[in-house]
Amino acid sequence: KHIILTLDGPAGVGKTTMARKLADYLKIAYLDTGAMFRGIAYLLGQEALHYSDTTLQTKLLEFKFDLKKDSKDNKFVLSLNNRKLGPEIRTEEVGMLASALATKGVVREFLKQAQREIGKRFSLVAEGRDMGTVVFKDASLKFFLDATPEERARRRLAQLKMQGIEVDYKKILEQIIARDRQDRTRKIAPLCPAQDAIIIDTTDLSLEDVFNALKKHLSD
Ligand code: C5P
Repeated sequence: KHIILTLDGPAGVGKTTMARKLADYLKIAYLDTGAMFRGIAYLLGQEALHYSDTTLQTKLLEFKFDLKKDSKDNKFVLSLNNRKLGPEIRTEEVGMLASALATKGVVREFLKQAQREIGKRFSLVAEGRDMGTVVFKDASLKFFLDATPEERARRRLAQLKMQGIEVDYKKILEQIIARDRQDRTRKIAPLCPAQDAIIIDTTDLSLEDVFNALKKHLSD
């Protein structure tokens, strides 16, 4: 059976970890749509902020996303122009640029098409900001994860540390607050829970608690 589950929420809430866990549990693919915005931001760089919509549109045509199952470990790998998206896109600087580009209609439109194409080919746990509200409105099950900015900053710090990236807590907190503001106040597809989303405040929950809370809502 073809199914789409959506998992939306603000930066650093743990969406990627949960989406991956949930997808493994259900034996379906997961799609990290933040990585798509980040991949584009990384390749275009800061100057993209000054492009006209027409220039941006032309540049976007050069980007081809693909989700493929690795034959060795059966894991799904997201690639951009045949290159795996790696740790280079995970810095908060790339995140901030991704968020700035994500306010642009041409970028959102382009990625929405790419995301829906992937959603046609695979059953998915789709993770991002507008999966439940825009891209996969008809998803079978929608989750919205939330947590205080302070808790999200701590989680992001721990995650970056594991990747060998050292950042200071206050700086991360400021960046998370700034990115939230940008994501929540943009005109197109602002970050908010879908009307039919299950909202989970994860501030005081462990990974295991969150996963159990999600699993409770799964039916067969
Ligand atoms: O989730 P992540 O932090 O990787 O996303 C980076 C940025 O991409 C977000 O701050 C947001 O502005 C944008 N984004 C979006 N819609 C999505 C996924 C990400 O606007 N579905």
